[in-house]
This record gives sequence, structure tokens and C-alpha cells, in this order.
Amino acid sequence: MDSSAVLSLFRESGALHEGHFKLSSGLHSPGYLQCALVLQHPAHAEALGRALGDKLRDLHATVVLSPALGGLIIGHEVARALGVRAIFAERQDNALTLRRGFSLAPDDRVVVIEDVVTTGGSTRETMAVAMAAGATVVGAGAIVDRSGGSPGLEVPFKALVTLNLATYAPEQCPMCARGEPIIKPGSRK
Ligand SMILES: [Zn+2]
Repeated sequence: MDSSAVLSLFRESGALHEGHFKLSSGLHSPGYLQCALVLQHPAHAEALGRALGDKLRDLHATVVLSPALGGLIIGHEVARALGVRAIFAERQDNALTLRRGFSLAPDDRVVVIEDVVTTGGSTRETMAVAMAAGATVVGAGAIVDRSGGSPGLEVPFKALVTLNLATYAPEQCPMCARGEPIIKPGSRK
């Protein structure tokens, strides 16, 4: 599945909108992405997981670790493709933690999977959970790379598609300057 096929899947599912958006942060952007809308279709989730798993297969992972909640479904599907376990870390007292009896062994080779990587911060935090548990992180992956192609991780990183969706402070927004009407995602027309 090449990046244009992935983008078509996102557009068909209403998961990628192009226009003029006010994000929850208050910043304006020419694009809005909601991976859950494509992953709500199990067949799409499976296909994306298989495509991402193929890019990571050479790393010989023994387990996929995802941060809850956004990484759960795609992490599970990548693990299915690789034939390994899928576990997740979740927030407890603001720190990502392995709960529910999930464990990692010293010989585990971990790939960290998320839906979208923007700054890489959450991926790094999830990598730290695996390392603190004594395992080795061998790579990371995401469906969408919004970092501009360099999330600055210390391990190999693969994404199915790279998107450059700029964000602007309202007073610096070129779309506002052109007088384009703004849409707040999630609100009904
Ligand atoms: Zn604007």
C-alpha cells in the first residue's frame, strides 16, 4: 500500500479533511486528521497494520508496544501482521505505565507503534517505558508522520505516509488573511 493509497483511504473514511480548520489547540491548519475514522473499519485497520508491519519486519520484533489510546488498534494490527504480542502502556498519575500484568523480558525486541507521530514526544515516552522494563527498543512506526520526516528518534522509524500539515497562530494564518471561512472539526454544519 503506497502513500497515495493510504491517503485515499483516509479521504474516503472522512479521516483527512483539507480546508481551513481551527484545531483544539486554538491554532489554525489547512488539514485535519482523525485516524480513528479510518481505523473504525476493521478491514482498513488490518490492511494498514499489514503494510506497516511489512516495513518493520526486518527488525525481528518480539512484541509491539503502543501508547493508549491512539496506538491501540494499529499496534494490535501490526502485531497481527508480525505474529507477535501486542501490549500497551497507559497513563497513571500522568506517567505512561505498563499495567494489567503486561511485562517485557530482557530478550524482548520492542517496536513502538502509534497512529500519528507529530513531535515524537509520545513515541519517546513509550520507548522509555520499554527500556525501563529492561527490553530493547528496535524500532518505531506510525501510520502518519506529521514530523516533516524527522521525528528525531534514536531507532529506525517507518511511516506509511508523511503529511506536512502546517499550523498557524490565528494572527499569522494565511487562510484567515485570504478571508477563507474557518471550520471547527467535530462540529456539525
Ligand atoms: Zn485561519
